[in-house]
Amino acid sequence: MNRAWVSEAIRIIEADANRSADTHLHVFPLPADWGIDLYLKDESVHPTGSLKHRLARSLLLYGLVNGQIGPETVLIEASSGSTAVSEAYFARMLGLEFVTVMPRKTSQEKIDLIQFYGGRCHFVDVPPDMYSEAERLAADCGGHYLDQFTYAERATDWRGNNNIAESVFTQMRSERHPVPAWIVVGAGTGGTSATFGRYVRYRRHPTKIAVVDPENSAFYGAWQTRALDYTTGMPSRIEGIGRPRVEPSFVPEVIDEMFRVPDAASLAAIRFLRERTGYWAGGSTGTNLHGAFRLISRMLAEGQTGSVVTLLCDGGDRYANTYYSDRWIAEHGLDLGPHLTALADFFETGAFPAPPS
Ligand SMILES: *Cc1c(COP(=O)(O)O)cnc(C)c1O
Repeated sequence: MNRAWVSEAIRIIEADANRSADTHLHVFPLPADWGIDLYLKDESVHPTGSLKHRLARSLLLYGLVNGQIGPETVLIEASSGSTAVSEAYFARMLGLEFVTVMPRKTSQEKIDLIQFYGGRCHFVDVPPDMYSEAERLAADCGGHYLDQFTYAERATDWRGNNNIAESVFTQMRSERHPVPAWIVVGAGTGGTSATFGRYVRYRRHPTKIAVVDPENSAFYGAWQTRALDYTTGMPSRIEGIGRPRVEPSFVPEVIDEMFRVPDAASLAAIRFLRERTGYWAGGSTGTNLHGAFRLISRMLAEGQTGSVVTLLCDGGDRYANTYYSDRWIAEHGLDLGPHLTALADFFETGAFPAPPS
């Protein structure tokens, strides 16, 4: 590969990061007498609107330093979501063509967003064909398949380099409980949970990692049984998290606890978040909050104080016609009512029983 071009490409990506501020760590106010603090790391404020901005930057840098990306390389991905949006942004920054393989039934809004960032969409009729089709396209045109599900866990530097874990621990330094008792995240690629899990071990923090999993996802069963070939074959309704198969970037060994969260509970939690704080988030943030509340109620019952950190993964504006639409909720047969009552009760009593699943 052309070393001068690669060097300039890395400078451009570094300069972009240098111009960007770190993402906020918001406080979610809990009753003061609980002695427990809850924080939300706001990943919606990245230039491309989600935590996939970090992943896309890491995947491009990894391809560049591996000599797999040069001035003529077509970048290929299998994603209909936030990853493709962020990768398209970085590809355009480097003057590279970007093609993402996605199911034909992907919503026009998402296609528009990817095209807005200069990406091209290539459709398959059967969703599981996305991966083989992306490989085939890359082979045909001498392109590079970024392959988020395989490389997420290794493209991110788990030791630091301002990864999401280091950023959180640095921002927590002046808090009354600077070392969190728990970090709560979901798993899509599994990369974020792997980064946190490795980082807390490397830095010798006692912090535990909880992973929340939506309905129909294979991760929960795989973590319980340690069978990495565990599949459900069913898609998740919560965008960004939950997979029909266990992805290669999922590292169960660094996860201390997993919770299965009903989709209605996740979607009730984002409405509750908006009502209590004004923050407008996507569905996976609701799954995170539900898990955080379960842990906080347990800490209260056991008389523990401390802090819990979770993520605001992306903003709610992308979901105005889905998760925030009462019609969409009804069409999907979801009932948020009992979950909203449970959330209000939790803030009154501190008790947050596990919902029936
Ligand atoms: C990708 C994603 C996640 C999960 O992060 P991973 O590091 O891929 O496990 C959570 N929420 C949203 C909105 C995402 O796009």
